[in-house]
Amino acid sequence: MQRIFSGVQPTGNLHLGNYLGAIRNWVHLQNQYECIFCMVDQHAITVWQDPKELTRNTREVAAGMIAAGIDPDKNVLFNQSMVPAHAQLAWVFNCVARMGWLNRMTQFKEKAGKHKENASVGLFAYPNLMSADILIYKATHVPVGEDQKQHLELARDTAQKFNSDYGTAFFPLPEPLIFGAATRVMSLRDGAKKMSKSDESDYSRINMTDDADTIALKIRKAKTDLFPMPDTVEGLADRPEAANLLGIYAALSDRDKTAVMAQFAGRQFSEFKSELVDLAVSVLGPINAEMKRLMAEPSHIDAVLRKGAERANAIAEPILKDVYDIVGFLRP
Ligand code: ATP
Ligand code: MG
Repeated sequence: MQRIFSGVQPTGNLHLGNYLGAIRNWVHLQNQYECIFCMVDQHAITVWQDPKELTRNTREVAAGMIAAGIDPDKNVLFNQSMVPAHAQLAWVFNCVARMGWLNRMTQFKEKAGKHKENASVGLFAYPNLMSADILIYKATHVPVGEDQKQHLELARDTAQKFNSDYGTAFFPLPEPLIFGAATRVMSLRDGAKKMSKSDESDYSRINMTDDADTIALKIRKAKTDLFPMPDTVEGLADRPEAANLLGIYAALSDRDKTAVMAQFAGRQFSEFKSELVDLAVSVLGPINAEMKRLMAEPSHIDAVLRKGAERANAIAEPILKDVYDIVGFLRP
């Protein structure tokens, strides 16, 4: 069976973009692939994380995934730092990937901001750890949102260079799996920016932990213009915030944008927004309730992650041993 690796950073504020662009799709994948789902806590600390929050957020992301329908018995679900082979392979990749490749990564430029000299070395080397996350399981497919496509390309380049440097066909080149509607959910405050956990404004995103009132408030306050809904999807071409809300409606209702547009054509945006609130609450409400239930029992989540890490280690350790042999590390 083909194998999937996918990760989420436990950086808090799990949001609608994570749900529609990632987690919801993973729920479908678990029936077709062997799936490895990882809370990438080592990626999270590339920017400062309060230790207590990091622990809490790791459990919360796990709870979010389970609440959304990911079966922890069927899939391998764990946190990255419990499987040392990720960081061990990442070191090898630090020596395979080139500075020039990493210099081109747009996520580093965005996250490091103006003061690149002050960014952590980890933030710069992040893509090599991500390559290791995927290749330590010889994953064949990686479900990625638009924002991670460039990193997956780098993982492929790194696998290829490793294979050619050492004259082997050891690593498969992982393929992206990109999904249809609303793979990219944008910020509610700025249609040019993606919805993100790390956005300072909580009004920029709908969190998976938001209650019905908060969801309603955020959607009502979401930036829009004063025009009503046009007749065609093309009519929203230069109205990115409005187009984003339409895309969210379509994704949440599992319909295409044209069908949703036909329903709302010519109507006021305030009416559309109030129907979007009902829809969002009906989809996220049950997930939210289940997350709360799971979070009340942290020892249960910990047990799930411990078992997942054992299974992940059982796959990763032999692959790391082979890599060490190929590289020529003495293992007396
Ligand atoms: P951060 O700001 O900390 O990077 P993030 O919101 O980008 O957080 P990640 O943990 O980096 O979240 O990504 C988890 C998954 O969610 C990835 O598969 C990513 O492609 C997807 N994802 C993140 N943001 C969006 C979005 N706005 N729309 C669709 N998918 C998204
Ligand atoms: Mg991200």
